[in-house]
Amino acid sequence: MICLYCHGRITVELNLLNLFSQPKKVCESCHLKLTEWRRGERCRRCRKIKDSGEAACRDCAFISRRFTSVRNIRCLLDYNSEVKMMMHRYKFVRDVALAEVMADFIDIKAWQYDVIVPIPVSDHRLQERGFNQITEVLKRSGTAYTELLATNKIQLQSERTKSERMKSDNPFSFDAGQKDVKILDKRILIVDDIYTTGITVHHAAEIIMQRKPAYIDVLTFSKA
Ligand SMILES: [Zn+2]
Ligand SMILES: [Zn+2]
Repeated sequence: MICLYCHGRITVELNLLNLFSQPKKVCESCHLKLTEWRRGERCRRCRKIKDSGEAACRDCAFISRRFTSVRNIRCLLDYNSEVKMMMHRYKFVRDVALAEVMADFIDIKAWQYDVIVPIPVSDHRLQERGFNQITEVLKRSGTAYTELLATNKIQLQSERTKSERMKSDNPFSFDAGQKDVKILDKRILIVDDIYTTGITVHHAAEIIMQRKPAYIDVLTFSKA
């Protein structure tokens, strides 16, 4: 088998333990590099590496002042240099095969959610990139999702400063085609690719909360 990340050969010795398990998509060395978490004291909620002298996480404090916080935040991978490179190859070099690698880390099927909502990508971005970087991963992991939200946002979040983002109005709205999806008392999971300050997912949650779900959790592929 070939590693989907480095394209090196994966040699697996067949034994009783791995005979019936899923074949691996990335080699052991790539797996180690992608799953490594950088050292440092982290916020227990969003897993940001805190600055020295930062007692409580400033990002989470800001979010809790401005928004109704979501219940739990889960990040699959740290944004270490390898993950950063992978995301770049995936989103900007448009190496869509990497969706398969990220899908390998997703285990949503084991959790209990009624509606899984990917953060929407604007039509402009979709045309430019050719694929939605979030739903592509969900598809490949066999996770059913609902494109509940729409956006008109054109600028990339990473191209804007934090204060620009704070000032901006909510870029999301309910997708007109998804009016009949039941949200009241449902367990919702919002999925995004990178969690930076948390503003994007909390904007999305703000819209969904209008329909009073039981709770909203967040899953992101990576924590910046
Ligand atoms: Zn590899
Ligand atoms: Zn935090």
